[in-house]
Amino acid sequence: MKSPSQTNAIDFDSAKLQRLGFGQQPPLLERPVSLAQLRAQLSLQLQTSLEPQRILGLFFRDIQRMVPLDALTYVHQGSDLRLEFGTRGHHSISYSLSHEGEHMGELVFRRNKRFSEEEQGNLESLLSSLLYPMRNALLYRTATQTALRDPLTGAGNRIAMEQTLQREIDMSRRHLQPLSLLMLDIDHFKRVNDSHGHTAGDEVLKTVAASIKGQLRNVDMVFRYGGEEFLILLSNTSREAAAMVGERLRYAAQAQDYYAEGQLIELTVSLGCSTLLPGESAESLLRRADSALYVAKREGRNRLAMAG
Ligand code: GH3
Ligand code: MG
Ligand code: MG
Repeated sequence: MKSPSQTNAIDFDSAKLQRLGFGQQPPLLERPVSLAQLRAQLSLQLQTSLEPQRILGLFFRDIQRMVPLDALTYVHQGSDLRLEFGTRGHHSISYSLSHEGEHMGELVFRRNKRFSEEEQGNLESLLSSLLYPMRNALLYRTATQTALRDPLTGAGNRIAMEQTLQREIDMSRRHLQPLSLLMLDIDHFKRVNDSHGHTAGDEVLKTVAASIKGQLRNVDMVFRYGGEEFLILLSNTSREAAAMVGERLRYAAQAQDYYAEGQLIELTVSLGCSTLLPGESAESLLRRADSALYVAKREGRNRLAMAG
């Protein structure tokens, strides 16, 4: 049987936002009797968080008091967000969310049982309680992302790197999973600036960053560490697997076409790799990757060296 899929657009501006009496607090019932009651509860509950994950998690859980679901998916390309709750279902209803002309993502409800007209109406009504919480969460996300990103390359900046590195070290310890780090430095980058100027150098830097990101699954784990140095954090990655990623990055950087003032130029990178040791600090892990990078440079560049 073919799974039916309906697609709808919800514009929060035109969605009728019912006025609700916030003066009288609704009692917290397990199964609210009315749609208005559930909407009132949702409005209060969802505004307690600025995390899209939490807001949608609560939404997914609570709307099921009225419309049982198997899954909820949310995708917002602009902020690189893709969230999934529950399992899969044959039937789906999709909503494209927008507010004041701004795209706020795609929401898909799924379940194995077909949605009735009434349920669809209820879902649409409940969606309006997502408006302000999600808009605030997306704005907050944009603001924090801007503060944590290098504006030239879009890679994470140093502040982001320090936060993420410590978090990943803690995670690695807790889950007894390996953690590896690659430090990548462009070879003879000064020559690019000297021959073609700083602006051309900037363009080349952007291309290198894009090439790195293109090779990795999680772009949030690439950081601009120094002027022409990047740090790549590889969670749950052993020394051997990290060496393979490092080689792949080195090869991709070499195979990439770079243009400086419209002229094709040759460029290579060197890498140093370290893998977290028991009890090791972030500083030590970084230092060992840096020492390995130094070895790669000394041994002729365009190569990967592993920390001892
Ligand atoms: P090596 O192979 O030993 O790494 O040589 P190198 O020339 O890459 O290394 P060095 O550290 O001597 O020079 C790095 C150069 O990178 C110097 C600096 O002008 C340039 N650089 C650093 N940050 C930027 C930037 O944001 N934009 C541009 N265009 N150049 C930068
Ligand atoms: Mg350097
Ligand atoms: Mg360099």
